[in-house]
Amino acid sequence: MAVIHGRGVVARQPGSPAGVEDITIEDPGPGEVRVKMLTSGVCHTDLFAKEGKFGAALPYLLGHEATGIVESVGDHVSRPTAGQTVTLSWRAPCGVCRFCVRGDSQVCPSALTAQPRMKTHDGITLGRVLGLGTFADYTVVAADQAIPMKETLDPAATCLVGCAVGTGVGAALYSGKATPGSTVAVFGCGAVGISVIQGARIAHASRIIGVDIAPSKLEWAKAFGATDTVDAREGDPVEAIRMLTDGLGVDFAFEAVGTPQAVEQTIASCDIAGTAVLIGVPAQNSQITLPLAKFFFNRGRLRATSYGDIVAGRDFPLFASLYQRGDLALDKMVSERIGLDDVEDAFAAMQRGETIRSVIVFD
Ligand SMILES: [Zn+2]
Ligand SMILES: [Zn+2]
Repeated sequence: MAVIHGRGVVARQPGSPAGVEDITIEDPGPGEVRVKMLTSGVCHTDLFAKEGKFGAALPYLLGHEATGIVESVGDHVSRPTAGQTVTLSWRAPCGVCRFCVRGDSQVCPSALTAQPRMKTHDGITLGRVLGLGTFADYTVVAADQAIPMKETLDPAATCLVGCAVGTGVGAALYSGKATPGSTVAVFGCGAVGISVIQGARIAHASRIIGVDIAPSKLEWAKAFGATDTVDAREGDPVEAIRMLTDGLGVDFAFEAVGTPQAVEQTIASCDIAGTAVLIGVPAQNSQITLPLAKFFFNRGRLRATSYGDIVAGRDFPLFASLYQRGDLALDKMVSERIGLDDVEDAFAAMQRGETIRSVIVFD
């Protein structure tokens, strides 16, 4: 093993364009693996990090949704092995905290990550988005963050399982526990919302209502399994959802926007004993108003989820097999395949609502 020189997309100043820079990638340490990237999806969270909203010190290596090949492994790593194709998880439960031992590893507060082993050409240690940093030729991650993935599957599709698809399908199946025959509303029909819609379809929900303000996203919602769509610019979406559900509201309402208004509308869209699931990351200090008596007498349920409550080691293979047998549409979520130099253009296209996912394909 030896230090590798490669290229990576680095955020240096909040709000400034992230440029491709020469970086160095050290050898993996004990319990770590170095991964040669095949593909990496461009996600809103990378934009969030680029704007300095994680509060961590820049410079930052962007990217956190990727499939690659294990190039080398550090000491005490029995799996994965060098040469294996892996999809990266930004949560690797520690296995020993009180949450992990009681079976709630999805809320593990001590998740594993690698030491920061990437540096800029001028020797500054790089932070990495969600402990990964995948807009780079190579990255170093904790061995448990690298989940073996079938090498025969298209890596541009499987990388999506590492963030948007894992989060959205997981939210439908695990956080909300959507049931057969149930009614579902999804606020926000970007990559995560589309994945919630697919999860609800896999759970055999009878009615799936996609809500957005962008016509393109309402079209996507339909293409991925929504039975109805509501354009939230054309009036109160809560009222529209009631009209579509015999005046009742839905059994499960998901929010993939992160604004107080969307959260309030999501909660208000639920029927008696309905479940509202919050997925979108809210701004610090944001507040909502909850009509408490209505929520109480409705016996409302409200929960927040991170990463769709998935357990990567269990769910990445599951979602890959759902993809392989045609139940989970991943190929058509890949709007464009781009190079490392095209990330800023991909951010702009995402913000304009033109792309579900731009996926970087590495040489
Ligand atoms: Zn733990
Ligand atoms: Zn993401």
